Amino acid sequence: MLVKWGDVVMKAISVNQALRIDRPTLGKTIPLSLWRLLRLVAMPRAMGEDAVELDRKIGLEFGYLLKIEKHEDISNAINRAKIGVCKPMEKNKNTYALEFTECFTCSGINPIVGEPICNFEAAIVEAALKRLGETIIEVKETKCSGGLGDKVCRIEAKVKGGKSLKNNHFIHSGSI
Ligand SMILES: [Zn+2]
Repeated sequence: MLVKWGDVVMKAISVNQALRIDRPTLGKTIPLSLWRLLRLVAMPRAMGEDAVELDRKIGLEFGYLLKIEKHEDISNAINRAKIGVCKPMEKNKNTYALEFTECFTCSGINPIVGEPICNFEAAIVEAALKRLGETIIEVKETKCSGGLGDKVCRIEAKVKGGKSLKNNHFIHSGSI
């Protein structure tokens, strides 16, 4: 499969291909500063306001890769990926909410940004809920640690009652 981005065409890299890591000296982890500089500094500088949309798109794609079979799997996946320290998902009426501390994107940012910035994380939750067949009305980050100075990042999803059919994205799902 080929991936097109503007005039650039490249071969798609599979999940299995990407996760074959050969770094006997450096191992499988990288400093969090690298993620933050890429995500919060380099990406917005390179893409301007399109960075927000890209954040969302990669969050959705990442969320589709997660092994999600029930709602509790979402908070477990966030914990496992060390995106943050996540409490169990709350549910009331047609709203799901998820809170986590130690957000890998925003915890500790000082001074705070003045607006919620965890669009990637919100999109992960959106994708995971879609994967469970939920019809999403809106997903919002209502509290944000480094964005708004809150104690947690809180992502709230409003869903419609009833399940929708799963979409084609899930054919490509791996299991992270
Ligand atoms: Zn946040």
